Amino acid sequence: MKILVVNAGSSSLKYQLIDMETEKVLAKGGCERIGIPGSLLKAKGNGGEKIYTEDMPDHKKAIRLVLDALLDKDIGVIKSMDEIDAVGHRVVASGEYFKKTTLVDENVIKTLEEKTFELAPLHNPAAATGLRACMDVMPNTPMTLVFDTSFHATMPEKAYMYGIDYNDYKEYGVRKYGAHGTSHKFVSSEAAKYLNKNIEDLKIVTCHLGNGSSITAVDGGKCVDTSMGFTPLAGVLMGTRSGDIDASAVEFLARKKGLSHTDAVTYLNKKCGVAGISGLSSDFRDLCSGMENGNERCALALDMFAYQVKRFVGAYAAVMGGLDCIVFTAGIGENTPTVREDVCTGLEFLGVEFDSKANLAINDGSIREISKPGSKVKVLIIPTNEELVIARETAELL
Ligand code: AMP
Repeated sequence: MKILVVNAGSSSLKYQLIDMETEKVLAKGGCERIGIPGSLLKAKGNGGEKIYTEDMPDHKKAIRLVLDALLDKDIGVIKSMDEIDAVGHRVVASGEYFKKTTLVDENVIKTLEEKTFELAPLHNPAAATGLRACMDVMPNTPMTLVFDTSFHATMPEKAYMYGIDYNDYKEYGVRKYGAHGTSHKFVSSEAAKYLNKNIEDLKIVTCHLGNGSSITAVDGGKCVDTSMGFTPLAGVLMGTRSGDIDASAVEFLARKKGLSHTDAVTYLNKKCGVAGISGLSSDFRDLCSGMENGNERCALALDMFAYQVKRFVGAYAAVMGGLDCIVFTAGIGENTPTVREDVCTGLEFLGVEFDSKANLAINDGSIREISKPGSKVKVLIIPTNEELVIARETAELL
């Protein structure tokens, strides 16, 4: 079975074609600048790479070019479109409308378009556009929606509710939904496999630390709490996002800076986080070199980040009544030793014996154990693979 995984943004479309028998990526690539002059498709397959510079006025043209690349005589990996058994679409937000991966029909699209757009105004309309484009070009191929939020659907009410008027929760669906669910699901199940244990018997804290960061408590394979909230603005401070902040401070700042509600939220999403603290960059590589060169605000940004991640690790160990494993993943989690060290230092009381030397080993893309051999709590670095989860969920549903 071959599954095409599609991740559509407003002007981009990334894809992977995955062979489910081997779980190998047969081809992958991405369209950039859809609807903007200078469109580009970079496509890889069959050991080669090709760049398409044809105009892509819309997502339909983009998906047509992706299919051309998949069928190409040099870099192509299939002979006919019929070899694609299904398409799995990544969707950021489901609200309470979809709890799990869903096969697409007209009713599903209607709910996606009418109910979920306002929950993720940048992402969900783009996913729907990508979906409709694929359905136009591949009308007989089954399509699924795989939601970033699904893995968090198992959170108990006490974890996902905000302390607001209950009627407002009911009326407007304002509650915690979480994010990065496919990543948390993937790395927690990979951790169980690596440790040769049943996931049902493990209490894991997964730290997806990238441009957006979220931490999840996974008890027995199920999410019981997560750090992101109604939107991906909540939790720890991130590249440019503030993370958790007193709502009154937002109103105060908006008043002082003369910002509307919308502008205040844009400010919190785009101008804050480690970029705002350091005044230098949202990129942790820049922050690390800044700190090494004595930049105190870079050091503060890194310090705050590790401290806040650690706070969630401790809180989630308490929530689960124990801890067997901490997993680091995503750009920062996989590549920034100083963050991992700072998060884990001081967690000896939980049974974490951190191995500073193993922590410095080169990232070769494999799972790395960075706790000492006898450590009660295992600390692992596990490269994430959200596309594979989308493909697996799609194959399972079919
Ligand atoms: P992501 O959103 O998962 O792509 O992660 C992006 C973040 O990961 C950025 O802040 C980068 O600074 C960080 N990152 C990516 N690669 C590296 C690397 N090789 N070394 C240090 N940080 C990295």
